[in-house]
Amino acid sequence: MRIEIDNLSYSYSAGQKGLEVKALKNVSLTIEEGDFYGIIGHTGSGKSTLIQHINGLIKIGKNSGSIRVGEFDLTDKKCDFNKLRSLVGMVFQYPEYQLFSETVFLDVAFGLKNFFPDLKEEEIEERVKTAIELVGLDYEKVKNKSPFELSGGQKRRVAIAGTIVSKPEILVLDEPAAGLDPIGKRDFLKLLKNLHKGFVKTIVIVSHDMDLVAEHCNRACVMNHGEVFAEGAPKDIFSRKNELLELGLDLPLTAYITDKLKENGIEAPNDFTEEDFIRAITKWYEGEKR
Ligand code: ADP
Ligand code: MG
Repeated sequence: MRIEIDNLSYSYSAGQKGLEVKALKNVSLTIEEGDFYGIIGHTGSGKSTLIQHINGLIKIGKNSGSIRVGEFDLTDKKCDFNKLRSLVGMVFQYPEYQLFSETVFLDVAFGLKNFFPDLKEEEIEERVKTAIELVGLDYEKVKNKSPFELSGGQKRRVAIAGTIVSKPEILVLDEPAAGLDPIGKRDFLKLLKNLHKGFVKTIVIVSHDMDLVAEHCNRACVMNHGEVFAEGAPKDIFSRKNELLELGLDLPLTAYITDKLKENGIEAPNDFTEEDFIRAITKWYEGEKR
């Protein structure tokens, strides 16, 4: 399913004098099926507001643009939002705070029962087991535990299991690596990569972390004050160094170093992934030796 956002605008407290906040202004974006898509931007730039539109959590106002997700037209009154939400899974910031059930099993099963009230018990169990294993947890070990007995990283995995249990085609995550230590972050990204390889077709990730976006996303956009500032491949976005710094945004480490080297006469163009960065530096070095 392709996500097509066309000319989308949104205001909080619309029409209330002095209170209105224009959170999105004429946003147009296309996210293709199969993308690992990054949404970057400083706090308050509209990222969370934007993604909550994708599965209809925030409804599109009159004459405020349109969104299509595959066959779903979100401006259509007859749009089946329940079905849409089973296909577009959403993981909010710090999802571990949204766990509430007595056991991990019940927490993961909750969303499923919501979407598919007619599922048989065995089928629920099978799906919950699959979801828990997909996020790298041991089903037998955790199923009867209270979510509150788990570590922070495990809780986050349980929350993701509760989203992927409905077998979404698209998984949208708001700042999923926030607050994780470097090793936790690396493991977590491995998990997302695996999910993307085999289970969900499209991943959309909101992140402050430019290294993450450079390394893992094939496309990205930069939001600024509710508008799309830039859109494209990360290597093209991050080559606009001065503009990004002016917006108060960071760059991936690989882009900083590439730029510093260039200032010193060393040309090592690369796409800012670790692998390509190393390839470029090695190529330069081999040239020097000759
Ligand atoms: P981001 O996720 O990029 O930090 P948000 O989408 O949360 O940005 O916010 C965009 C703008 O909308 C900000 O100015 C923010 O203060 C405002 N905003 C967000 N949520 C609400 C809300 N529930 N009520 C009023 N204003 C809000
Ligand atoms: Mg946000």
